[in-house]
Amino acid sequence: MHNLWSDVEAERLIDHYGAAGVGRDLALRVYTTRLLGGEPKLVLHGGGNTSVKTIMKDLLGEEVEVLCVKGSGWDMAAIEPAGLPAVRLAPLRKLRGREALSDEEMVRVQRANLLDPGAPNPSVETLLHAFLPHKYVDHTHSTAVLSLADQPDAAERCADLYGRRMGLVPYIMPGFLLAKKAAEVFEADPAVEGLVLLKHGIFTFADTAQEAYERMIAAVSLAEERLAHRRKTVFAAARLPNVLAAAAEVAPILRGACAIADPAGSGSYKRFVLDFRSSAAVLNYVNGAELERYGRAGVATPDHTIRTKNYPLIVPAPEAGKLDTFAAAAREAKLEAERDQALLGPVVQVPLNPPPGVIRGRYDPRPRGGQLGPALGVPDRRGQKIGKVGHPVGGAGRKRPARRPHGHRAPQAVLDNDRASHH
Ligand SMILES: [Zn+2]
Repeated sequence: MHNLWSDVEAERLIDHYGAAGVGRDLALRVYTTRLLGGEPKLVLHGGGNTSVKTIMKDLLGEEVEVLCVKGSGWDMAAIEPAGLPAVRLAPLRKLRGREALSDEEMVRVQRANLLDPGAPNPSVETLLHAFLPHKYVDHTHSTAVLSLADQPDAAERCADLYGRRMGLVPYIMPGFLLAKKAAEVFEADPAVEGLVLLKHGIFTFADTAQEAYERMIAAVSLAEERLAHRRKTVFAAARLPNVLAAAAEVAPILRGACAIADPAGSGSYKRFVLDFRSSAAVLNYVNGAELERYGRAGVATPDHTIRTKNYPLIVPAPEAGKLDTFAAAAREAKLEAERDQALLGPVVQVPLNPPPGVIRGRYDPRPRGGQLGPALGVPDRRGQKIGKVGHPVGGAGRKRPARRPHGHRAPQAVLDNDRASHH
């Protein structure tokens, strides 16, 4: 992974924001947050977060030590100073003495200590940033690091790769208890450059923005190099029908099969806007003979469950001319998925099928959707998952390109299947 730090660009942002009354510390925080956010292999659609500890004036004009931490709803790649709301640091640190703190209480304390009462909610990982002493703290869900940190023997793999450079934090749901544990791990060896959070992601920290960023790039690059060395062929291709149905024929069936009836019995349905992807990585993933196994391995980091849920729906390959059979299988797969996991929230992981590709979407809140925008955030998350499954370490690795079935050319177009509304 390339180190994109530029002294010229850093100084330019310091001048640019300085003219608007933003201090150097925060301007540099904006700069490296954008560098991290612009790299999809680190963060997707605002995933991950960053912070800086600095001094600011409160509404009464008094100087106070604050933590400027990424606010919810901001994309790191396009962050502005307003996307890093300032929270009084002392009360946050005081919370560490508690035995327990519910998420609701945590959010209330964080909001109550915002310098600007109108600022966005600070990240759910705010306390983790606050409990660490460093001026700059960077956090990403790096695909390469997760490829190590999601393995059953992740602790050994990470220790082997990083030695004492990185502390290892066991998996705990993001929130107060994770923040406490991470601080304990750091304090056990304050020489570490960062922390690997098993099944979650990576933190790096330092007293300057440049060093915290460069430590992130270095740690991720090490994981990438390790993965590149240990790749082996892993995805044996599944047997597929000779001729596959086109995505345009398949999508309406999936949209119908996945429609959810209004539980209140109004007779209306929630429906998907679908999006079709068939990149080489996607095809390798969905064409694998063992899709059932690795497709149900769960998401790479807890954040992804918000967008994709934990498992995809897996349906058989759609054979041309046998769409009735495919439709019945799709309906059955959906029923099975509902039994397996409640279809929570407005987004549902949509069918992944052996070719023609991955079709996924989210429920369109409108009775008849017409815009694809809201669906676009979803495929990339699973896309990252696909990237990760495609490059695991030890025992797994580079895949042979899956055999493309005869007569099938994977469509590249995104397919808005709004017209299809039967169920
Ligand atoms: Zn995280």
